[in-house]
Amino acid sequence: MNNLAFYGGKKVRRTPFPFYKTIGKEEVSAVTRVLRSGILSKYIGAWHADFGGGPNVKALEKEWAVYFKVKHAISVNSATSGLIAAIGASGIGPGDEVIVTPFSMCISATAPLFYGAVPVFADIEKEYFCLDPDSVEKKITKRTKAIIVVDLFGQPYDRDKINAIARKHKLVVIEDAAQAPYALYKGKFAGTLGDIGVYSLNYHKHIHCGEGGIVVTNNDELADRVRLIRNHAEAVVGGKGTKDLTNMVGFNFRMTEVEAAITREQLKKLRGFVKKRVAHVAYLAKKLRAISFLRHAKTRKNTTHAYYVQSLLFDEEKAGIAKSAFIEAVKAELVPTKKRESEGVLIASVYKPLYLLPLFKKRVALGKDGFPFRASAVRYQKGMCPVAERLYEKELIVHHLIHPAMRKKDLDDVARAFLKVAGHIHELKRKHS
Ligand SMILES: *Cc1c(COP(=O)(O)O)cnc(C)c1O
Repeated sequence: MNNLAFYGGKKVRRTPFPFYKTIGKEEVSAVTRVLRSGILSKYIGAWHADFGGGPNVKALEKEWAVYFKVKHAISVNSATSGLIAAIGASGIGPGDEVIVTPFSMCISATAPLFYGAVPVFADIEKEYFCLDPDSVEKKITKRTKAIIVVDLFGQPYDRDKINAIARKHKLVVIEDAAQAPYALYKGKFAGTLGDIGVYSLNYHKHIHCGEGGIVVTNNDELADRVRLIRNHAEAVVGGKGTKDLTNMVGFNFRMTEVEAAITREQLKKLRGFVKKRVAHVAYLAKKLRAISFLRHAKTRKNTTHAYYVQSLLFDEEKAGIAKSAFIEAVKAELVPTKKRESEGVLIASVYKPLYLLPLFKKRVALGKDGFPFRASAVRYQKGMCPVAERLYEKELIVHHLIHPAMRKKDLDDVARAFLKVAGHIHELKRKHS
């Protein structure tokens, strides 16, 4: 007879986990006010009083800058757009190289391509999963112009070491803080640790407006250039009198008044959401301590974590089975989260190193002739970043079942599923051998 649900035994949990809904009546009233006003966007793509958008966009940008203690906050329609604009604003172009991480969502590494620059992958830290400063330094060449750091899973990157390397080699630090709003490094907010930072307001993130993003910087020139790229730079620079036309081919990366109004309300809730995530992770970490082959990942010294997910390190040798088998067995004990059923149980093995994407392996990005890879000596192949590969293949498990809507009894079920599989691991070993 089998106990594990993976082999037909009884599941630990049969009712869906609660939906992580951040939207409440405050957002509903804010949106209603915008709809009643009839002004859903007020941007004008010319050098004009409305070049910077309407009242909600402007108010949001002011509030965001005050909240995160940064000089400029610039709203955009996604973090993806924000990262592309940050690369453009930094003056990066063909012939340049940008150091990136293989261990993130794809745009953290592909953003340089939109301006014809080549991403160069450095390896990550074993414990914190952010870019490893030693590996970064080894990848610097005379073509390197910037580093895109990611505050992965809500954990700030190693600011002191990476920023020192950047200063020494005159590189721009672009910080992807999509997963880390409200995380701190020595008391300073993630997103504001480099030269220019980007937050996401996509609906999977801590707070959201459907789709959206915010770019932040203390640098006036970078801020000015991001605003131009966001709103049809090429049509604006003449009237504005901009002299440096580098990368001044613009986009429409503008956020609407509706999204800005939602985000203003969401921002007020951010701190409370992060506090809940932190408490949920602490609660689960304690319960999972009983499993000898699983370890809650450490938090970097002098930082606070925003816990986009909880990360767990799996010891295949101690467990005697593959990580993938363990994950499948735990997922089988549980059921999906409401309204995210299509994603299955929110436990995953991440990230497949980005240099293994067809785009890099086949060296095809812009056009058919291999631009911008063709003129570059940079290569992409398996084995390049052994730490990232090992974490993906054997060691790292992450899960979203710590979000603020989870109640104590839901967290208890998550713990029970992990503990049950650990307690019956011999069943998996038998079947898998
Ligand atoms: C979600 C995410 C992005 C992209 O955010 P969008 O707003 O969906 O474009 C970028 N980087 C990281 C690390 C992310 O998690």
